[in-house]
Amino acid sequence: MQTPTSHFETRAVHAGMGGVRELGSHVPPIDLSTTNPLPSVELGGRSYEELAGGQDLGDDRSAVYQRLWQPGVARFETALADLEGAEGAVAFASGMAALSALLIASASAGRPHVVAVRPLYGGTDHVLDTGLLGTEVSWAAAEGVADAIRADTGLVIVESPANPTLELVDLAALARAAGEVPLLVDNTFATPVLQRPLEHGAGLVLHSATKYLGGHGDVMGGIVAGDRSWVERLRQVRALTGGLLHPFAAYLLHRGLRTLPVRVRAQQASAGELAQRLAAHPAVARVHYPGLAGQDPQGLIGRQQAGAGSIIALDLRGGYDAAQRFVEACELVTHAVSLGGVDSLVQHPASLTHRPVAGEAKPAAGVVRLSIGLEHVDDLADDLLQALDAATLAEGDDRVEALEAVELATAADRAAD
Ligand SMILES: *Cc1c(COP(=O)(O)O)cnc(C)c1O
Repeated sequence: MQTPTSHFETRAVHAGMGGVRELGSHVPPIDLSTTNPLPSVELGGRSYEELAGGQDLGDDRSAVYQRLWQPGVARFETALADLEGAEGAVAFASGMAALSALLIASASAGRPHVVAVRPLYGGTDHVLDTGLLGTEVSWAAAEGVADAIRADTGLVIVESPANPTLELVDLAALARAAGEVPLLVDNTFATPVLQRPLEHGAGLVLHSATKYLGGHGDVMGGIVAGDRSWVERLRQVRALTGGLLHPFAAYLLHRGLRTLPVRVRAQQASAGELAQRLAAHPAVARVHYPGLAGQDPQGLIGRQQAGAGSIIALDLRGGYDAAQRFVEACELVTHAVSLGGVDSLVQHPASLTHRPVAGEAKPAAGVVRLSIGLEHVDDLADDLLQALDAATLAEGDDRVEALEAVELATAADRAAD
């Protein structure tokens, strides 16, 4: 039986499983009901009112309708809240749906102003910069956050490690600067295995559950963890705006949490080794990885974050052209957006995830981002090093033509099969 003092790994396996054994099941059943029987007109009405207001499902109540309450979603929420050390959590259809609910909750409570620290995930940057949800953003450096706060500031938003170049921000210092305003930390990259922002003074934690929590590239979701009053407000926004997590997605995400600690640590071990090996290649101007010497000047690894994680950014000497050649030459590593899964991915942030980001905040054209998976580290090194060789070849180089000729011949072979 899991207890509150159990170790993190034990909680990752057992959190949110309460009541499953009593059902006679070993794993949570997937309940796809969109509607639920009502015990009586009186109790049905009361259940509806409570759930639409964001309260918990009471003992003698009905879940009424899937948009108001879903047992599998509630289990995933309980588990993630446990791992983040939060009073509760609210899950959504995607990370962006989770962020949108937070912004709506904040703006509708009369605090439409947001102070945000760049760099942020491209979608987050975009939704804040456009003011699409009725918020107004002030971009600030971490040191400028206290001065940027106004009477109508509802949230301070930060990502650490930041996407895509993995700068670390001192969360405790930022929470102090934010004062009464809740600090929202996007913890997608670190996961609660490596970092639990609430322990450092943050008020809210957000995940794109699509990434490490799911971990297999086959489920989208988002989740926010925080105190009881935020949980109620967010459930209310979810009930009224409908950005729901599907029960099957909730099942997969809950299952993902059980292997999260082993996945994160194994992926991190490979990333640490690859960061060293790739830094030695002449095509690489700089490897961005907080585990490398000199890249954590504030000493946050160990104090705030238990390890450097498994995302690496490479700054290639040849700029855009080299980045393009590199991602297109990767074979074992798939050229695709997203991150945090069991298989390794590479992408070019300036033309993809960070495309909508305003000029000065956009990542450099030569930066590529790698998400290191669970393949053997030597196989990953072989693929990435051959792709770096390909990135070094200049246009008009004999070797480029030779390479293209080989590719054409291979393609012709395949077509003939
Ligand atoms: C992917 C991502 C998001 C958005 O999440 P979705 O699930 O794609 O909506 C937000 N923040 C970070 C850091 C991300 O990587």
